[in-house]
Amino acid sequence: MAKMRAMVVPKPHGHFRMVERDLPEPDRHEVRIRVHACGVCHSDSVTVQGLVPGLSYPRIPGHEVIGVIDALGPDVDGWNVGARVGVGWFGGSCGYCGHCRRGDAFACENMHAITGVTRDGGYATHMLALASAVAQVPLALDPIESAPLLCAGITTFNALRNCGAKPGDLVAIHGVGGLGHLGIQFAARQGFRTVAVNRGRDKEALARSLGAHDYIDSEAGDPAQALQAMGGAKAIIATVTCAEAMQAIAGGLGVNGTLMVIGAVGALVVNSLDLLGKRASVRGWYSGVAADQEDTLRFSQLNAIASMNEIFPLEEAQAAYDRMMSGKARFRVVLKVAA
Ligand SMILES: [Zn+2]
Ligand SMILES: [Zn+2]
Repeated sequence: MAKMRAMVVPKPHGHFRMVERDLPEPDRHEVRIRVHACGVCHSDSVTVQGLVPGLSYPRIPGHEVIGVIDALGPDVDGWNVGARVGVGWFGGSCGYCGHCRRGDAFACENMHAITGVTRDGGYATHMLALASAVAQVPLALDPIESAPLLCAGITTFNALRNCGAKPGDLVAIHGVGGLGHLGIQFAARQGFRTVAVNRGRDKEALARSLGAHDYIDSEAGDPAQALQAMGGAKAIIATVTCAEAMQAIAGGLGVNGTLMVIGAVGALVVNSLDLLGKRASVRGWYSGVAADQEDTLRFSQLNAIASMNEIFPLEEAQAAYDRMMSGKARFRVVLKVAA
């Protein structure tokens, strides 16, 4: 029987281990994907560290997957073997529950599928995905270069286009890292006056080269005051993973401004006076569903938006994961699985 290889997490806090398994047959409504590349995301720590209860192990992480369909399960419509596809965090939806029927498939009441968390993901030569989770990937996009667009990309692209700001409005990208370096590119191309906010001056030149019109060093002074001096932000896209840093910038919102929280920081304290006097708000944002993936990829292709990546072979998933968790990668880490 044909085999697949995968880098599995054997148990919470376990080390990655290479396993060989029989190639699985896709079940009803599933496709099988031959993986070309898979990004390594901070959210993979949910699986590696067992951060949510009820996960089953061994588990294959990975939710920035690009490959080609190599088998179709029963009752899959609209997809063909050989199609170039991608899968992100969104693991699929039923299509008939109340949320699905109202266009909120991300919150499907029947399927709570998260790629690489509740289902096996893309740290593997092959994976199964629900057809409802699969996005078309333009052939012109390189799979290794583009894999991070399926989580870091969609999250920033989608938060920006739903943040309430209009072209010309001041939008701050807080954090110039894996998410932020894409967020700057999307914000500038979506027509916002884009200001990058980060500690120190190390990344200023890079931020400006990616399209930032202004830069705030959050260590040099109060970043909220700096934003207020520019008129106040219509939106702040908070990509940082530190609650104190996020709290320190919330006061930079302008009238009707929105703090879009896309970095997971746990409890967050916000001064109510920063909100009520300006009718400002704090909002979380879910990355997006398959159609959002397709919009992200097409927008990126159209505007030559690219992730800056460090590339590791599949077998070195442990080193790749450690590198990502170190916070030192510039800026995303990608596993190259097949040519
Ligand atoms: Zn992710
Ligand atoms: Zn549903």
